[in-house]
Amino acid sequence: MKKFDEEEYRDLGRRYGFEFIGPVPESMLDRTRWRCARGHYFEMRGANVSIGRGCPVCSHRWRRRNADYHTLAKKHGVEWAGGTTPKNTREATAWKLPGGSIVYMPYRSLAVRARRLADTYEHPHAPVARPLDSHLDDVEEALVDLSL
Ligand SMILES: [Zn+2]
Repeated sequence: MKKFDEEEYRDLGRRYGFEFIGPVPESMLDRTRWRCARGHYFEMRGANVSIGRGCPVCSHRWRRRNADYHTLAKKHGVEWAGGTTPKNTREATAWKLPGGSIVYMPYRSLAVRARRLADTYEHPHAPVARPLDSHLDDVEEALVDLSL
């Protein structure tokens, strides 16, 4: 495979909406750093950039395992009641509140919440760091991301 120089890496990045951070790697098969249009820094092989692989943070395709869902649920004082692992962190799944009711939201929306999910539903009048329905904003943001 042809060895790219710095200018060629910059061009490659530009074609896919990334800024090349570097350093210039030995080959296209070695990882180097990039920054996406939304400001995320990540490492990726030039070869993967050239086939259109997106920013890993923006694409949120990293599948979480069941254990991750349980861990996140615990942090929020709820139970994960989804059963099967969602395909990605954007897919809505079921979370069981201490009172027994179920709310559906993606892993991602729960992960970015400033407030424990259980507190939001059990003590709706307690001081809030973010609006009560802030998860709706998160869902909207996730939908915007899908159009990328
Ligand atoms: Zn990104």
